Amino acid sequence: MLLAPTIRRMQEVSRSWQKKGLAIGLVPTMGYLHEGHLSLIKKAVQSCDRVIVSVFVNPLQFGPSEDFESYPRDLKKDRSLCRRAGVDALFVPSAREMYPASFQTSIEVEKLSRGLEGAVRPGHFRGVATVVAKLLNACLPNVAFFGQKDYQQAVVIRQMVADLNFPVKIVVCPTVREPSGLAASSRNSYLGESERKEASMLYRALQLGAEKWKAKMPAEEVIRIVKDYIAKHSGFEIEYVETSDPKTLLPVREAGRPAVLSLAARLGKVRLIDNILVGAGLKT
Ligand code: AMP
Repeated sequence: MLLAPTIRRMQEVSRSWQKKGLAIGLVPTMGYLHEGHLSLIKKAVQSCDRVIVSVFVNPLQFGPSEDFESYPRDLKKDRSLCRRAGVDALFVPSAREMYPASFQTSIEVEKLSRGLEGAVRPGHFRGVATVVAKLLNACLPNVAFFGQKDYQQAVVIRQMVADLNFPVKIVVCPTVREPSGLAASSRNSYLGESERKEASMLYRALQLGAEKWKAKMPAEEVIRIVKDYIAKHSGFEIEYVETSDPKTLLPVREAGRPAVLSLAARLGKVRLIDNILVGAGLKT
């Protein structure tokens, strides 16, 4: 497995693959790889001739009071997981490589970035869209793989790719969960054993909400039931629970319509997000 620390080197490698007519897949990550990442990598290995995984903790998408410094990192383990999974190249640029001192351009996907995560984390999706655009230009993939776990992110990236005509196909893969239902996440490593149990209640609450939504219960009641369940069964503090249109991400209030039911919640300093699709969602 090749290790590419610079954009120039990564582009050289990708161009040499392109010349041979090989289909290149990219899985962008912030590292500390888990089963969720590995499911994306597996899909990429199955459907592409060459697979690149990028590992870059992107400072641009963290707010000033967020966990950029403490975000878990273990490149050695990531390397061995990638090697075992059949990855061809690991792209691991430094922050200076991605953002030299003269850097001054960013990408804003306006409407889709406004609500949900965007409302609580101002500038987050500007950071995400900008880094993904740079990763696409550095790795030159034919296909890029994202997780439904970060639903709004996937929708934002699809819009950016369409608006800016990136010649890449975006594939969105289902959320991988632990047996308890807790969505796999690098941030789960912040949780102790009993906190993990509490965290699994978030998915239980979403499942309950999805049932009620399917049964055409009004949105306000569904949201209240999800919030109440979390408050009753865990110490998590809810940041938001929302029923949104799967394409526009605007709030949906018509009971039973296709929707993404999503939430963000905190336990101390740990902030987790999760979602569940009810009815037709993103084409994966
Ligand atoms: P991250 O390293 O957290 O930025 O995630 C990198 C990619 O993996 C993103 O496209 C995420 O949506 C995806 N991902 C993270 N967790 C999961 C999960 N539990 N299941 C599926 N995909 C995931």
